[in-house]
Amino acid sequence: MALVIGNWKMHGTSASLAEVGQIIDGAEAAAKDGMQMVICPPATLLREVSAACRNTKIQTGGQDCHQDPSGAHTGCVSAEMLADAGASYCVIGHSEARERSGDSDRTLSAKVEAVLRTGLVPIFCVGESLEQRQDLRAVEVVTGQLDVVADKADQVIVAYEPIWAIGTGLTPKEDDIAEMHKAMRDKLGAQPPLLYGGSVKPGNAAEILRIDNVGGALVGGASLVAKDFLAIARSI
Ligand code: PEP
Repeated sequence: MALVIGNWKMHGTSASLAEVGQIIDGAEAAAKDGMQMVICPPATLLREVSAACRNTKIQTGGQDCHQDPSGAHTGCVSAEMLADAGASYCVIGHSEARERSGDSDRTLSAKVEAVLRTGLVPIFCVGESLEQRQDLRAVEVVTGQLDVVADKADQVIVAYEPIWAIGTGLTPKEDDIAEMHKAMRDKLGAQPPLLYGGSVKPGNAAEILRIDNVGGALVGGASLVAKDFLAIARSI
């Protein structure tokens, strides 16, 4: 199944629900059979966005979660809370979250387990820094990050997001995306959907989405504008 997932990051207030309405309307035409569109709004909007998306072609997800179901963790949300608010997915290991929290592989593994425990689907993000790519270590770094989900590859979605491509307007060469997705496929087997993320826009989506083993896109900035998010979905 092809997936187009929008990560709204720390953007959006109740005024953004109008944008969700436009995405829902457009998704009827944009989302072909076998395609799933997902919006990951900030936690404050998850319940309202999920309610708006009920019985439509869109599902929702959280952007991160704590590994415990509840507890004294000020500022955090659990996978159980995301599920209760209507989510079907949860992003884990986004580079912005990794940088902020310093999560170890062990913590990321516990978060993935928490997401699975609640019946949500983890969207596990991996990606190398610019320095690691320049040192020709990108494939080694990314396949190493995949150890966290290698024993549950049939239960997760994986998104390859080079850190240097997120929010910068830069994207890797097509050959580099193809090489990385082939390496991920070789490591994880046939099952998991493998997405690309990092400055996907209407103008480059079609060429990225036709690369071998790329099963969809994780979209940040362009997912905030309904017409751009829908244009990306139409590119599949
Ligand atoms: C992201 O946040 O996962 C992302 C890929 O952002 P952008 O599309 O803005 O680069």
